[in-house]
Amino acid sequence: MDISVVIPLYNEEESLAKLYEWLVQVMNKNKFSYEIIFVSDGSNDSSWKIIERLQQSNSAVHGIKFRNNYGKSPALYCGFRKATGDVVITMDADLQDSPDEIPELYRMITEDGYDLVSGWKKKRYDSKLTKNLPSKLYNSTARFVTGLKLHDMNCGLKAYRNEVVHNIEVYGEMHRYIPYLAKNAGFKNIGEKVVEHRPREFGESKFGISRFVYGYLDLLSLWFLSRFGKKPMHFFGALGSLIFILGLGAVTVVGANKLYAIIHNVPERLVTDSPYFFLSMLAMVLGTQLFLTGFLGELIARNSNDRNNYLIEKEI
Ligand code: UDP
Ligand code: MG
Repeated sequence: MDISVVIPLYNEEESLAKLYEWLVQVMNKNKFSYEIIFVSDGSNDSSWKIIERLQQSNSAVHGIKFRNNYGKSPALYCGFRKATGDVVITMDADLQDSPDEIPELYRMITEDGYDLVSGWKKKRYDSKLTKNLPSKLYNSTARFVTGLKLHDMNCGLKAYRNEVVHNIEVYGEMHRYIPYLAKNAGFKNIGEKVVEHRPREFGESKFGISRFVYGYLDLLSLWFLSRFGKKPMHFFGALGSLIFILGLGAVTVVGANKLYAIIHNVPERLVTDSPYFFLSMLAMVLGTQLFLTGFLGELIARNSNDRNNYLIEKEI
């Protein structure tokens, strides 16, 4: 099969039929063999009924229905597991992404050899100021942290080589960073394509301003996991030792001063009158705690399922 289209959706009844027709039209025109996987993320409108109806009229349509609204990442995860096409396309269900982009995305994966191509909504049609400006800021941070030169990391429209979606695990709200997950998994050939973005015709955006707060936190987590996920002691141990040694050095100076004063019989204030004494105590306690956190981290990492999970590209 050429293409699997994975569409996560939460209460998008107004746009599903139109999206489906547009997709089929693009697929037929380009003679692609395809499947369309709708993942209803706990929708409580008539979305699932529509998906059932589409499935009856066309066996290339598949549907997954969640009991709860788990989020976009879980929806993508379950869609990915079902996807069998050579190229997997993800797109939003709200008609903000255009199916007309699919042939070119497909070509970039199959001919130009990209592992992943991310859409770039160069001209955005999101009405709110709360979205466009923070989005720019957020993307430049993401570029800095991930080392990926992408302008629009979180674009819903993306294309993947099949192998990629079966070797990354999207969870929580990590759908914002799929290119980073792919890069960390070893799929380094990541490209970008300017895509048409359209205003939302029906309903409202399902994500509020909180996306930026959580987005930044998730970015930090992913950065930490990719650097130290398998060796937490390297992070906590190094930081802990550094802080401990600073504290030890400071307390030694305080002590040495006092000793010098005693030996030479000069009046010197009490050790506990010096702020450095308390700062160094604090540093030594903090350092020790960080160090112990490193040990705990190692215990957890040793128990992780993927402590020895490597993607082997070739073997001869
Ligand atoms: N979505 C989902 N589960 C959620 C929230 C959103 O499956 O909990 C879907 C939503 O139906 C849409 C896509 O994710 O197909 C993108 O959501 P939305 O259009 O609200 O985000 P925006 O375009 O504002 O970034
Ligand atoms: Mg949208």
